[in-house]
Amino acid sequence: KKPTCECFSCYGGSDCSQFSPRCPADAESGDPLFLEPYWTQEATQSAVLVAGWHRMSYDMADGSSISSELEWHIRRLHAVVGNAVAEGKFIVFGTGSTQLLNAAVHGLSLDTSSSSTPVSVVASAPYYSGYREQTTFFASTNYKWQGDSYQWMNASNPSMKFIEFVTSPNNPDGRLREAVLGGPFVKTIHDHAYYWPHYTAIPAPVDEDIMLFTMSKLTGHAGSRFGWALIKDESLYERVSRYVDLNTMGVSHDTQLRALKLLKVVLQGGGGGGEIFGYGYQVMRDRWMKLSKVLSTSKRISLQKLAPQYCTYFRKIRGPSPAYAWLRCEMEEERDCHAILKAAGIIGRSGTKFGFESRFVRLSLLKSKYDFNWLLQRITAFVAEESAKS
Ligand code: PMP
Repeated sequence: KKPTCECFSCYGGSDCSQFSPRCPADAESGDPLFLEPYWTQEATQSAVLVAGWHRMSYDMADGSSISSELEWHIRRLHAVVGNAVAEGKFIVFGTGSTQLLNAAVHGLSLDTSSSSTPVSVVASAPYYSGYREQTTFFASTNYKWQGDSYQWMNASNPSMKFIEFVTSPNNPDGRLREAVLGGPFVKTIHDHAYYWPHYTAIPAPVDEDIMLFTMSKLTGHAGSRFGWALIKDESLYERVSRYVDLNTMGVSHDTQLRALKLLKVVLQGGGGGGEIFGYGYQVMRDRWMKLSKVLSTSKRISLQKLAPQYCTYFRKIRGPSPAYAWLRCEMEEERDCHAILKAAGIIGRSGTKFGFESRFVRLSLLKSKYDFNWLLQRITAFVAEESAKS
């Protein structure tokens, strides 16, 4: 019998209830649905109801100032988690931190550029591809994408100026990082999308000139598109704000309202779901350990090595719990790791997207329980096939 409606990609049968064992495990995107069960527990506390007449204006002036309340909660959250010094910093909201990536490049390039040479925008490989994609797409005369920071470590041309993106912990490999370039002609943008106790130990609060955060990886609400920048310098704050004003005239008030509600639940330490960081860490740690165990017997693929570290938030040494697995195909002839895994029904993101070798692939560990379990099954089968052959 033909299905009466269209089934989701991996389901078939007349009522779409049969899962197809041939379905690939899709671990390509960083969709943070692992936090969905937490919010199911917090359904009532976290709900937002907005009446039709409410907050219609372009201005925030119609009623209480939600933006300043949201700012207050962001500062409070950083103080409680101890991951960043937010006191005394200016805050700019963005439509996700995605909007703030280019806003920051724009702001810093006006500060750094001389009329003749565009500022070189770099990041050390493997890096999050959004930096390269945005910088090349927006194609300003003020700045230019110049690839891997390591290539420029010994740059001797004194007229060259740099903006370096530093991602810590890094997407894709989960390592805590620092800038590679230094000196008076280098400005850095610190992207801390994953600097939360779910994904990493928090050794100390960060306190840099411009730091980017996002709700996507904090609460998992990627679809609300909310991020923020903490900025030390007032004139940089003004340039970044102007970019956001010209680009979108600020961030949706509906989104701000929802962000505020969610942060309140996070700060109250949750209700039925408990404390979000404890929950997030437990899920991510469990996934990492399961994956590590399966891959420990493989000679064909290896996993990045991350060391346990003292976390000031949990006040103990804690094992790794990264957002992504960063795999390497070890066999000499298996240079296109993405293709090797794809043939085994495992869809990841190729190392080449991160400005790195095709021998590497990123697998997302952030998706739903079902996605992760299916991924684990597929990888287990891949490793079992290898031991059967040897
Ligand atoms: N920075 C990094 C390192 C990311 O991985 C992502 C999303 N995956 C972003 C920024 C953008 O996130 P968003 O726009 O959802 O805030």
